[in-house]
Amino acid sequence: MAKLKFNENVCNTCPTADCLVKCQYMKFDRSEAHDEMMKIVRGEDSRVLHDCVTCYACEEYCPRGAHPYYLISERREEKAIYTAPRPITNQWINMTQMQGKPMIGAVSDKALSCCFIPALGELGSGEIFKDVASAMVLGAEFMCPAVHTHFARMSVVKERLPKVVNNFVKLGVKEVICLHDECYGTYTSIAPAYGIDVPFKPVYYMDFLLKRLNELKNQIKPLNIKAAYQRPCSNRLIPNKHHLVKEILHLIGVELPDRKYQDGNALCCGEMLRAVAGYKVANDIQQSNIQDMLEVGTDYCVFNCPACQTSLSEKVSKRGLKPVHIIDLCKMAIGENKKEVGGDE
Ligand code: SF4
Ligand code: SF4
Repeated sequence: MAKLKFNENVCNTCPTADCLVKCQYMKFDRSEAHDEMMKIVRGEDSRVLHDCVTCYACEEYCPRGAHPYYLISERREEKAIYTAPRPITNQWINMTQMQGKPMIGAVSDKALSCCFIPALGELGSGEIFKDVASAMVLGAEFMCPAVHTHFARMSVVKERLPKVVNNFVKLGVKEVICLHDECYGTYTSIAPAYGIDVPFKPVYYMDFLLKRLNELKNQIKPLNIKAAYQRPCSNRLIPNKHHLVKEILHLIGVELPDRKYQDGNALCCGEMLRAVAGYKVANDIQQSNIQDMLEVGTDYCVFNCPACQTSLSEKVSKRGLKPVHIIDLCKMAIGENKKEVGGDE
């Protein structure tokens, strides 16, 4: 089974310990953070192994590419310090089992990956996706297994990821356009961290969106709206792609006012935290986040991940914000999808 490539000396000589100093869910000064991280590196117990809420952010905060979150999850599993009650953990493992029932479209050298999320199939349509929509693949066979990191079940990730990669290889694809950040993060961060070969080119859907919007520039009518962006946990695995949100929204006339919980300070949507850290932590985070969106005068809450959208849509709607996926906003800007996102007919 694949093994995490972790260089102890990278942490030992680290001058910042930013992984834990910047953590939004635990408080450490630099010295404590370094000591706790070194305990984890040595395989000793640490309060981090008990209190980490699995937000993924330390993967972004570490300036040295050391993969602290994967190491925390490995150590938890080694010590059986699981994050959620066993029935919840097992439910996730069971409901994402491969069952030989994937949906596979007219795939040639490209596939449009919808992971295991049917809503992504609806999003990957229309003028923007017209050349690749028919190459959609969906199902557990093509699901990135990163969700199991939330439950410290790295063994499931390591067992399933090579099979998922192989399922794409069997399709003969050269490129996989990932509509879910978690998939792109899995192929470009988790896989190399574990030495798992990915013999196709993963393409991030926001790169694809930006390219298509530039090709369709003449059709864009600026939306002239203000929005807050809900950054998903999996975007922390690919922080070099975060800038694309601002570029896309700028291109379609969406203003993103500065707010407290954005960029590096973004708060998790809360639903995974509900299983891992409990109802109070999840509710408090969701409330603080939505209040922050309202205080800067936004009308829309823009989502990237359908799971965040499911967990927060009703809550933001009740507070007067319109929930919308970034792809739907792009469709709206080129004259599609007016009804769905509350625009004028
Ligand atoms: S994980 Fe990164 S930030 Fe944390 S101690 Fe190691 S090198 Fe430093
Ligand atoms: S995953 Fe999040 S909560 Fe856990 S240590 Fe990293 S930054 Fe802190």
